[in-house]
Amino acid sequence: MEFDLIDRIRRHTSVHRDDVVTGIGDDAAVVAVPAGRELAIAVDTLVEGVHFPVGTSASDIGWKALAVNLSDLAAMGATPAWALLALTTPDGDEAFFDGLAQGFAELATPYRLALIGGDTTRGPLTVTVAVHGFTAPGEALLRSGARVGDVVMVTGTLGDAAAGLRCLDEADTAPYAAMIERLNRPVPRVAAGQALRGVATACIDVSDGLVADLGHICTASNVGASIDAALLPRSSALLTHFAEADAQDFALSGGDDYELCFTVPADKAAEVGAVLSRLGCGATRIGRIVEGAGVRVVDAAGETLMPARSGWNHFAA
Ligand code: ADP
Ligand code: MG
Repeated sequence: MEFDLIDRIRRHTSVHRDDVVTGIGDDAAVVAVPAGRELAIAVDTLVEGVHFPVGTSASDIGWKALAVNLSDLAAMGATPAWALLALTTPDGDEAFFDGLAQGFAELATPYRLALIGGDTTRGPLTVTVAVHGFTAPGEALLRSGARVGDVVMVTGTLGDAAAGLRCLDEADTAPYAAMIERLNRPVPRVAAGQALRGVATACIDVSDGLVADLGHICTASNVGASIDAALLPRSSALLTHFAEADAQDFALSGGDDYELCFTVPADKAAEVGAVLSRLGCGATRIGRIVEGAGVRVVDAAGETLMPARSGWNHFAA
């Protein structure tokens, strides 16, 4: 790999941490895990045309590649520390590297997340980020702890990113900027995840869609969930620009939201809602954990919109 490109990346991402013994520039990074901490580690790959649309700006790609990974750490309640960045690009375009590094750094810097290494190769545009974060032993939020009677909650609003994707083909995208921003620059709920440690019984980030991801909690916890479609939090942008049926569909199965879906004992829900409101994202009760399997979605009249099933696949007809 040409060294000046790595230098460009390093120039944009200059978080200094005492726990990085050796960062970019050697054969491997060396880090010091603080005593008494466990590491939470996640990796996610974004492929152009699959995980972000062709034409997405370099800085948005850099932001999103880190954001989806920080979202995984958030869902574990972990505190971000280090990242690796593996870049495959069709050409060594310097402006692209600068843009990508700048978008990455915009999100990394406020978290004091250090980029400690990576890899750079030629090929179809693909960005892989691996992140490392800390948790206290036994405190990581798992998918497996939901109990019958728990309340199901979700941070922020659902469906904006999928709606934003639908709007990209419009001649004038300006009216849809807020939703397109949620698609290109998802905000990982890191502080919310940390606040849920010791309170939430199960947690997951919504990447594939609410029904699919809550389904993972149900499977891991051996329970079912009943969701009230009328309670789904939707943004005013989504409700302004889309008919109710589409807005509901995006919120239930659109994906790319990167909100946290979690379960808490019923007597903790109000307090959790207040704490997450103070953190800016808020949290809304959307349903209950029940006996059985899979996610059942009920409308305001009590009619079942989606039957419970253990593996919802939003690609299926
Ligand atoms: P090697 O052949 O030993 O893997 P590289 O030339 O791939 O060496 O990398 C040299 C240094 O630059 C290593 O420390 C590596 O982690 C870092 N590096 C390479 N590509 C990236 C990247 N895209 N982002 C961050 N660091 C990178
Ligand atoms: Mg290498």
